[in-house]
Amino acid sequence: MPELVDLLSLWPVVSVLASHLGLGDLIQLARVNSEYRAVLHGFPPPAPRRVELASPDQGERPQAVREDLFIGRHQTPLWNQLKARANLDCTEAMHFQGNTTGLCRYCSMPVCMTCIVRASFAHPFNVWRSRTGYLCIDCWTTGNPHRDRTYRQAPEKRTSYNSPPGKGDFCRCKVNDGWLCWRCRQFQVRDILLRRHQCVGEACSNPVGPGREQRCICLWCDLPIQRFVSLKAKQSL
Ligand SMILES: [Zn+2]
Ligand SMILES: [Zn+2]
Ligand SMILES: [Zn+2]
Ligand SMILES: [Zn+2]
Repeated sequence: MPELVDLLSLWPVVSVLASHLGLGDLIQLARVNSEYRAVLHGFPPPAPRRVELASPDQGERPQAVREDLFIGRHQTPLWNQLKARANLDCTEAMHFQGNTTGLCRYCSMPVCMTCIVRASFAHPFNVWRSRTGYLCIDCWTTGNPHRDRTYRQAPEKRTSYNSPPGKGDFCRCKVNDGWLCWRCRQFQVRDILLRRHQCVGEACSNPVGPGREQRCICLWCDLPIQRFVSLKAKQSL
């Protein structure tokens, strides 16, 4: 007897199903487990999971991303075709009406402008200013990525950070880039006090340490923030 996940591997079935789903429901379906994720993206079936943990002397970090999940490589032709068929309905529980809908920067769930404006009135904190996290000196110098990063492309094991001012990529996010659903909006500000003192590096709980402003990164784009440069720029205006 075929299971739902088997039926999803048939294009005539999955393409019709997608056209009757909201994009949020389709994304949730792909997040049921690694099998659903694989079949909806056209990935090879995932390997059976081993339950034993790697011993520390094997040099493998406990939060290492599984290769067979193809994290960050999810923009496949199949997935993009299915998403294009789904309806771009706002998924917020409090949604009433609103027609400008985009995807949440963190979780990709569709959310409309009206719900974003309503959330900003209900909890008027500055999401742009609170998008920051700090790395300890070790994580900064070794290029340890931050633990809540989103995978827009295949994850790098190490990120090369540059201290501003200097060469390299820096955050260029604007206020309008903060298209966040209610849940992610709460998530971003919930730990802001903790993030001022504790490193946001993956698998690290070190204190941030002195000079943290030079190791500040943007949680939206994962790049360093040029704090000193922007201060100078402001003064010259
Ligand atoms: Zn809405
Ligand atoms: Zn979200
Ligand atoms: Zn750290
Ligand atoms: Zn940014």
